[in-house]
Amino acid sequence: MERITLALSKGRIFTETLPLLAAAGIVPQDDPETSRRLILETNRPEVRLLIVRATDVPTYVQYGAADLGIAGRDVLLEHGGQGLYQPLDLRIARCRLCVAVPEGFDYGAAVQLGSRIRVATKYLKTAKAHFAAKGVHVDLIKLYGSMELAPLVGLADAIVDLVSSGNTLRANHLVEVEEIMSISSRLIVNQAALKLKRTLVQPLIDTFAETLHDQP
Ligand code: ATP
Ligand code: MG
Repeated sequence: MERITLALSKGRIFTETLPLLAAAGIVPQDDPETSRRLILETNRPEVRLLIVRATDVPTYVQYGAADLGIAGRDVLLEHGGQGLYQPLDLRIARCRLCVAVPEGFDYGAAVQLGSRIRVATKYLKTAKAHFAAKGVHVDLIKLYGSMELAPLVGLADAIVDLVSSGNTLRANHLVEVEEIMSISSRLIVNQAALKLKRTLVQPLIDTFAETLHDQP
């Protein structure tokens, strides 16, 4: 039997993908929040899910360990997208990538003066491209999480991070000073799988597209 494998992360992406899967008649047999399984069977024997870290999803799909995946635009930009076909913006896990600074730090003045700004982020590539395009001089510091802490303890002047409600920024006395881009998650497909498993892959893409089209 030919099978297809979809890689996605647990948490918000899994939760927000469930209705799209349901529309395609796919129901996971386990809940990744409670199960320790990393391979989830579904009600459809030819479809299974891989639960991986959000940043690892493009890698599994690039190398064909998964035929399809769901990943944030933030993650795809850092990965580079090699070997990936990106047919659909699923409009889930929406947020924005922003520059934020401590209340009281005059970001505009620092930029005007041409000062070097220290920026902590998990998004090195995207941040580098953003500041280069604006001609802002930055020293980038790579972090893997809790970016909000960096300016509070003098590790950086600013951060580049994802923001949705802004509650985490506010709780840490940070303010958003620049939106870099809006973020949502996309369906990604291994380019070889698209050709070789087209009879399974294409209907799934089509159903997702129709479901999105029917939503406001
Ligand atoms: P972890 O939080 O477990 O360290 P992660 O940050 O890689 O892992 P998630 O927090 O589940 O994983 O984020 C997955 C994707 O969801 C991100 O790549 C991004 O596209 C999107 N995302 C992240 N934070 C938010 C948010 N606050 N609101 C909406 N979407 C978000
Ligand atoms: Mg997170």
